[in-house]
Amino acid sequence: MLRAGLIRKVAAGIYTYLPLGLRVLRKIERIVREEMNRAGAQELLMPVASPAELWRETGRWDFYGKELLRFKDRHERDFCLGPTHEEVITDLFRREVRSYRQMPLNFYQIQTKFRDEIRPRFGLMRGREFIMKDAYSFDRDEAGARLNYQKMYDAYNRIFTRCGLTFRPVEADTGLIGGTSSHEFMVLAETGEETIVYSEDGTYAANVERAEVLPPDTADTSAQRPLAPVSTPNRRTVEEVTAFLKIEPRQLVKTLLYSSGKETVAVLVRGDHDVNEIKVKRLLGVPEIELLKPELVPGLTGAPVGFVGPVGLKQVRIIGDWAVKAMANFVVGANQADTHFVDANWERDFKVDQFADLRNARAGDSSPRKDGTLKTAKGIEVGHVFMLGTKYSQAMKATFLDAQGQEQLAVMGCYGIGVSRTAAASVEQNHDAKGIKWPVPIAPFHVTLLPLSQSQPVTQLAETLYRAMQEAGIEVLWDDRDERAGVKFNDADLIGAPYHLVIGEKGLAQGQVELKLRHTGETQKVAPDQVVALLS
Ligand code: ATP
Ligand code: MG
Ligand code: MG
Ligand code: MG
Repeated sequence: MLRAGLIRKVAAGIYTYLPLGLRVLRKIERIVREEMNRAGAQELLMPVASPAELWRETGRWDFYGKELLRFKDRHERDFCLGPTHEEVITDLFRREVRSYRQMPLNFYQIQTKFRDEIRPRFGLMRGREFIMKDAYSFDRDEAGARLNYQKMYDAYNRIFTRCGLTFRPVEADTGLIGGTSSHEFMVLAETGEETIVYSEDGTYAANVERAEVLPPDTADTSAQRPLAPVSTPNRRTVEEVTAFLKIEPRQLVKTLLYSSGKETVAVLVRGDHDVNEIKVKRLLGVPEIELLKPELVPGLTGAPVGFVGPVGLKQVRIIGDWAVKAMANFVVGANQADTHFVDANWERDFKVDQFADLRNARAGDSSPRKDGTLKTAKGIEVGHVFMLGTKYSQAMKATFLDAQGQEQLAVMGCYGIGVSRTAAASVEQNHDAKGIKWPVPIAPFHVTLLPLSQSQPVTQLAETLYRAMQEAGIEVLWDDRDERAGVKFNDADLIGAPYHLVIGEKGLAQGQVELKLRHTGETQKVAPDQVVALLS
């Protein structure tokens, strides 16, 4: 996107959108608007700066950590730049809405968000300042909230389909937003930071953070030795660990994983924190510790950092990324008292293939999965829908009077789409060595017009075609620079409009121009007067 002149970096994670880049964002926004409106949501615009008082009411002023960029105004009052807007919208609701007759409601905005990400990277993919569509629904009851959730889920499917993306909705963790259930929309791409596990029959797909893996003692353990709780001097409770490291309990992905004989100890932390090697050494009382690189933990978001010792990295490498992810999944088990395991070896006791079996083995699983292995894929989170329940309405007393005149808490949902990330995800999914291959609906221009000489007949035809296409609603980028053909072709490929229309002296002499499809590289000779009909 930098090379193609779509964006320019101003500071880490902060970009100027250049004209071409802005056109892409506007196209995505338009699709998002149309589908939000169609699903019954109403657009409004909330401020970027929000006062600390609202965030204190929900406890998130303290809980959000350093991702929340805070500042003081001239009167020393605390403010933050909005990373998300549950507090502000819930405040609006409680001031304006009195009766069930005014509900259900769903408000959305498309706006700049600020999150002081610990590792901004990959351009617009993980910015600190970025554009998000966020919607918030308010319902009279659970059933209504579920209906709104479903409407947004359906709208998201339409939005990403219309954007020309290959994506998959997956079950997701609720993260810092909280709430009861949620789905993420993942654009499938090798470079994605998220790991998805899914069944081939399409009945199950989840973020690996969310995927349920059972402690081995509840699975079919015929091939495994019984696992027993271990007592070791290195053992610490969750409370001890979080207090010592000064982190939120939810930032602790996993505390300790033990292996008999040579003991493996791991502490995995995610989010914003000052945890370092020295602290972890002191915490565990071990002389040596190795840093587990975040790249080894692709399934974890929120900048996870792991510390492994004293066996160290070698052990982790042997048991693979999956061990680390499995540890994340064991948050339920291993962070509880007496549920640390002796002799739990990845290769032998857990495997990717066993995820499905482990799930099936779970007592009372209401939706038994078919037998078979789960596959994994890499994805980019472009959208996220949450059922919030009454988490925010309770904290902020957002109530309404029901038909019986009783005061009730609004049941909420919230729904985000990373508009700027969607643009970046599209590039990840659609490109080759020469540059971008935009899908038509979000391409900055439909056609790049490439006259190969400055001669009068070529220029004149370019002008005629340019006007004709514009009148037909075809968006054209006219490369009228006095550059060599090779330079023009390269730039056209880099920018990646889906169609390139080449006007050369030779072709013109035969009454033909050349139409090239960027996606396949196919070319076709066309009579100039057929161009508009062909592209319309
Ligand atoms: P991530 O897991 O990538 O940090 P998130 O789960 O924190 O994202 P949400 O709170 O669910 O993000 O926000 C809704 C959407 O906003 C995300 O699905 C994503 O598309 C987008 N988004 C979040 N953080 C960023 C960012 N730093 N840069 C660009 N887009 C972002
Ligand atoms: Mg996420
Ligand atoms: Mg995040
Ligand atoms: Mg999310």
